[in-house]
Amino acid sequence: MIRVSCRKPTMRYLLTGFAVVLLGFTTAQSQQRKPAKPAPAKRPSSQQKAPQPATGISPEIRMALDHISANSMRGHLSFIASDMLAGRNTPSPGLEIASEYIAAQFRRAGLEPGGDAGSSGEKGYFQTADWKVTEADIDSFELTINDGSEIANVKPGQVSLSGELKIDLKSVPLVKVDYSNAAALAALKPELIAGKVVITEIPDFRREDRSLWMEMSRARTEFLSKIRGLNPAFIISVDRVAQFGTGLGGGRLIDPDRAAQASGAPAPQFLTVVNKQVIKMFDSMAAGDSKGSISLKTGPPLQKPAKIRNVIGVLRGSDPVLKDTYVIVSAHYDHVGGGPGAGCAPIGDDNICNGANDDGSGTVSVIELASALATIKQRPKRSIVFITWFGEEKGLLGSRFYGKHPAFPLDQTVAMVNLEQVGRTDSSEGPQLNNASMTGFDFTDMGPIFKAAGEKTGITVYKHEKNSDPFFGRSDNQALADAGIPAHTLCVAFVYPDYHQAGDHWEKIDYENMARVNQMVGLSLLTIGDNTDAPKWNEANPKTARYLQAWKGLQQK
Ligand SMILES: [Zn+2]
Repeated sequence: MIRVSCRKPTMRYLLTGFAVVLLGFTTAQSQQRKPAKPAPAKRPSSQQKAPQPATGISPEIRMALDHISANSMRGHLSFIASDMLAGRNTPSPGLEIASEYIAAQFRRAGLEPGGDAGSSGEKGYFQTADWKVTEADIDSFELTINDGSEIANVKPGQVSLSGELKIDLKSVPLVKVDYSNAAALAALKPELIAGKVVITEIPDFRREDRSLWMEMSRARTEFLSKIRGLNPAFIISVDRVAQFGTGLGGGRLIDPDRAAQASGAPAPQFLTVVNKQVIKMFDSMAAGDSKGSISLKTGPPLQKPAKIRNVIGVLRGSDPVLKDTYVIVSAHYDHVGGGPGAGCAPIGDDNICNGANDDGSGTVSVIELASALATIKQRPKRSIVFITWFGEEKGLLGSRFYGKHPAFPLDQTVAMVNLEQVGRTDSSEGPQLNNASMTGFDFTDMGPIFKAAGEKTGITVYKHEKNSDPFFGRSDNQALADAGIPAHTLCVAFVYPDYHQAGDHWEKIDYENMARVNQMVGLSLLTIGDNTDAPKWNEANPKTARYLQAWKGLQQK
């Protein structure tokens, strides 16, 4: 599920400088990592019915659903959520490796490729977005700090910059401001600051207890707006905790379709310097004007090609007409990556957000459903399209791209089921065994189909009174809903302990429960796939008005 504002250092820079260290370290660490047991299953409460024997399912479908294996998903997830894929940021080598892995699994299941046609005209499994990604122009970077007695030359790896900066300052006077001295801050006069570079020490609240984050980030915003109000040439902050910087920003994706209206990256508020000599200079400086000066030069970010891919495979339907109508089952295979700049809350030295549950669990469920449903001889009437999206964490990028460049006609696409966080049962709201919830539960008539399939497979499908509607916009179903397609996200734990943190590991997934949930999903897909009536938006629910509008627009094309 998306959480906004992930700041990203330049990928190449991060991975080259950083990964070498990390990989060396993490392999040792992962071997050491004790396999954590999934939360002990408590006795299911009245809400969580124990699995009942399946009834009213044909032997062939029963066999296909039994094909869904906890061990198989464990195998897939232990690779996809491994440190080697470094949290599958968009774009990144880890994401690319994951896309190849998923395509290989679709090939193994015998799915029809649903992606772009190659030069031979033959379709592959990848739908590629030819975008650009910004990268800091390291070669044009220069930073020297002179405190009047010595000069420090700061390297690109010794700074952290969020956003992109084009600046050229030559020997600009330095003025030291004590971040923690509120009285002195209040008394600051414009003539002391204007046109100079402020050097200070802004604490990184993410290193503190989460309970302090709100307060500390508010204090930081106040400090920065106070200083910026006095028109400094620029602000730099020293960091004596980090070992190295996260680099010169970049990593911003540019969608050529939207480049025109896309505003550039926000100007960074300050530059963090991680350099021992500069810290020594800073400590020996008195607050206020100093004899020091600074020269800082950075060029506009470079734009590099970024090939990012949705992975698409099709189980072609059996009905001569309805086989050209489509039911999508999907999940996002990206996550937020790793490293200090990734917005990934580290745990000790582990700063890779592996995203096993978000949304590795959905991704391996799509793979497993593909291989299970592909065993059915009597295919459903409609075609089932299996898709894994890129860039969900950066704003539903892959699904929105699909909405604009559909691989299959949207007016022939009758439904979408998106799987999110279906692996962990240790929800922050208490154990979630043998149940699943759909966002926007009453938005279409698909809820009862999943409920009925749940009754046959021992899974309680329910409307989460608090989260159902507010979470409708928090994942990729939103992009297809905006295009008019009846679309929902199915989830087991909306919030769980390691959400967007380094502890979201594959060992903490409840694979047996996930297998049961996927049997319910599989049966639901087959039901929709065999139903000659396509799912519909619930016109009685005012929250569906704009989706209904979009759907009508599709039908008129
Ligand atoms: Zn997610």
